[in-house]
Amino acid sequence: MSTVTLEGVTKAFGATTALDAVDLTVAGGHLTAVLGPSGCGKTTLLRVVAGFVRPDAGTIAVGGTTVEAPGTHVAPERRGVAIVPQEGALFPHLDVAANVAFGLPGRRRDRATAERVEEMLALVGLEGHGDRRPDELSGGQQQRVALARALAPSPGVVVLDEPFSALDAGLRTQVRTEVRGVLRAIGATAVIVTHDQEEALSMADSVAVMDRGRVLMHGTPAEVYQRPADLVVARFVGDLVELPGTKAGATVETALGLLPLHGAADVPDGPVLAALRPEQIRVDGRLERHGHRAHVDDVVFQGHDSIVRLTLTETRPALRLAARSQAPLRPGDDVAVRVIGPALAYPR
Ligand code: ATP
Repeated sequence: MSTVTLEGVTKAFGATTALDAVDLTVAGGHLTAVLGPSGCGKTTLLRVVAGFVRPDAGTIAVGGTTVEAPGTHVAPERRGVAIVPQEGALFPHLDVAANVAFGLPGRRRDRATAERVEEMLALVGLEGHGDRRPDELSGGQQQRVALARALAPSPGVVVLDEPFSALDAGLRTQVRTEVRGVLRAIGATAVIVTHDQEEALSMADSVAVMDRGRVLMHGTPAEVYQRPADLVVARFVGDLVELPGTKAGATVETALGLLPLHGAADVPDGPVLAALRPEQIRVDGRLERHGHRAHVDDVVFQGHDSIVRLTLTETRPALRLAARSQAPLRPGDDVAVRVIGPALAYPR
């Protein structure tokens, strides 16, 4: 299983620094998501790993072999790195089998090639579809053919560039699960680029959060969601409730009372921004003695629960926040809110 290591990788396009001294280790056999806003350098990161873009500085190793360093540049086809590009990746004039056979050494009709093609189509659940043309397949099926083509030569590493962006919402979830299953089944090292935090958190073993050419945090999905390294990461990986507060040791005083903190030893005592996830705010329709009074401004139904926008009525100036609730609430309701679990604190 190939580990991918980047050290001090920098790439500028004119005045734009697409990658700024990136250090990142992608563990062998794991699925790592690279998550970040548009233009933060995700695609450039994939392209330097695949060998299509040469960095200005830094080193890259794949499976223990240096593929990029000052004076060293291993050609893309010799790195053992396969790329699954965004939509439109298949050759439209070739049938599915020829698309999958494209990266294999033998000729299409060779027995070994034909067998490998059938094996790969079975892996992605498309056995018997070899004679179809890409335009005779659904979007999800096309994406699975692109994956089969990338995996056919048994690459140590496969990199996927926003592979689900062209699929509609329902299909995206299904194809995501299928692709994850295929990658796990063969134990490939995979790097998937996405700007969709839900996709990154739900698919990957680890998530690297990027902003402006830098990797701000690399951790498990739970770590980046529950213990984000800084406010930029916290805001990017999910909805955030932000409250001005005053930190004293392991607690923070806020409009929602004195809250325990997740280890925030490196944040000095004094004024801070306390942060919670909306599901940590419990809303009770009955006004209880315990809890802070709030007024419901808006309720956005989301199926399993709702996002409830509230204004705390006890505070001056009035403070707005978002909560998740399964209670049948309506705009105009007066409710009580409580906080569950510890808060995060960031310098203000
Ligand atoms: P998106 O999610 O929108 O695809 P991204 O995070 O993948 O964005 P990159 O495509 O890596 O971002 O681009 C990073 C920055 O580098 C952007 O500002 C982009 O405009 C710039 N850039 C990328 N490739 C080139 C190029 N070939 N020439 C000039 N600038 C480039």
